[in-house]
Amino acid sequence: MKRNPSETQAPPTSATAKTAKTVAIVGGGASGTLVAARLLASPACRNGRLKVLHIERDAEIGKGIAYSTTASFHYLNVRRDKMSAFPEDPAHFSRWVGRRYPATPIADFQPRTRYAEYLRELLEEARSAAPTEAYASVRDRVTGFVRRSDGRLELATESGTAIVCHRLVVATGHRPPGVPEGLREIRGSARFIVDPWVAGELAKIGANEAVLVVGSGLTAVDTVLSLMHAGHATTIDGVSRRGLSPLSHPESESEFDVPLPLSDERPRGVLRALRVAADRAGDRWPEVVDRFRPEIHRIWAKWTVRERGSFLRHARAYWEVHRHRVAPAVFREWNDYRAAGKTRFFAGRVLAAVEEKKGIRVRIARRDGGAEEKRYDRIVNCTGGEPDLSLFEPGIYAADPNGVGLPTDGAGHPLRRDGKFESDVFVVGPSLRTLFWEMTAVPDLKNQAKVAVDALLAGLDVEPGN
Ligand SMILES: Cc1cc2nc3c(=O)[nH]c(=O)nc-3n(C[C@H](O)[C@H](O)[C@H](O)COP(=O)(O)OP(=O)(O)OC[C@H]3O[C@@H](n4cnc5c(N)ncnc54)[C@H](O)[C@@H]3O)c2cc1C
Repeated sequence: MKRNPSETQAPPTSATAKTAKTVAIVGGGASGTLVAARLLASPACRNGRLKVLHIERDAEIGKGIAYSTTASFHYLNVRRDKMSAFPEDPAHFSRWVGRRYPATPIADFQPRTRYAEYLRELLEEARSAAPTEAYASVRDRVTGFVRRSDGRLELATESGTAIVCHRLVVATGHRPPGVPEGLREIRGSARFIVDPWVAGELAKIGANEAVLVVGSGLTAVDTVLSLMHAGHATTIDGVSRRGLSPLSHPESESEFDVPLPLSDERPRGVLRALRVAADRAGDRWPEVVDRFRPEIHRIWAKWTVRERGSFLRHARAYWEVHRHRVAPAVFREWNDYRAAGKTRFFAGRVLAAVEEKKGIRVRIARRDGGAEEKRYDRIVNCTGGEPDLSLFEPGIYAADPNGVGLPTDGAGHPLRRDGKFESDVFVVGPSLRTLFWEMTAVPDLKNQAKVAVDALLAGLDVEPGN
């Protein structure tokens, strides 16, 4: 049941709290939670100068899309030593796992359900160490924000309640996946699962139903595993534009250091250097990509809009498949299904999908020149979503010409059309891809949460009256 924010906002209890500033955080996924925990640990929150109002539309706070799964076979796709919430304490998550699950050996790749627990506990700890009035949460959907005449920001919500704040953190993650062109006709069909992350959607699929999965990335992997674990009994077909199969992290963290001389840092030069390094290293792409990871923010920032566009058109799919890899155990399972003929993934494009009485007839142009036409009981859209920019009024905020995020500065202040950065608004999460490109996973998000919180607190310190 939705609550009214004015009911959940604890009344100020001390003289200082009366003058406290409010930070509204929109989004209770990993990004919003990391920001909240950091803010609550700050002297400003502890001494009553700052209050956090956390607004999340549906999920429990601390989960977001990635960590809402309840399946024990959905693993983190990043090693535990990179999943700490705090850049200043890289072993924090590993220590937590050791403490919380002492009876089992600490595997490199942990179930995602544990990460949700970790985030929740982190927030709980930060809340209990701060004054009660320092934090309140609200279940509602923010639909937009405007600046009031007194300079503060006013958030509009689905429930109709207006929320007024002095600082705004937008951590809204990704929007739900779009519908690929060839599937538009069946939008609205009960046989078409547009977003497999919506709870209960995959459970509608019968064990003997013919299923087509569209996309072959990490969401497709999770979907196939979920269906198989639920006892799916027929071969699952899968189609994706390039037919790239997910890749695995190495079984163990390698000491192998790949030399990566980057003499030419333009996109072509970088891609050439990556290819040469991978060839020399005996096709060890995972190590090459890992070696390049720390350079990507710096190099991406140097590229022109055109160069970024060219990279996105030609190399994005290959970059993502090498960059976002699955845990070795998940990869083995995925391959076993393929080898046993339980899945059949191929490269191609859905040309058309038409609902008939007994299913959905799908026409696919295969990348190898062939064609497929088949009737399916269910189609699952695993194409993934783009960053959610819906809170940023296009008439006020600048747009990314390449459409991958929102133009901001390094602290996450969005760029307005008049050329100024909005100094009391902070974006944390994948919308920052315009500036950084890589801003999807916790190893980047935790750094950015720190940068944003430091900037927010520094801004409070220089404000008159503080
Ligand atoms: C299936 C999957 C697995 C992943 N696995 C890993 C992994 O193992 N390791 C890793 O580092 N990264 C992983 N990622 C990347 C993941 O995106 C990040 O780790 C992180 O969870 C992103 O968090 P976020 O808070 O930015 O976005 P989200 O998780 O999308 O959270 C955004 C939140 O904001 C809420 N929200 C959105 N709009 C509004 C609104 N208008 N009003 C109120 N609330 C709103 C949403 O309900 C949601 O809870 C995975 C991603 C996916 C999809």
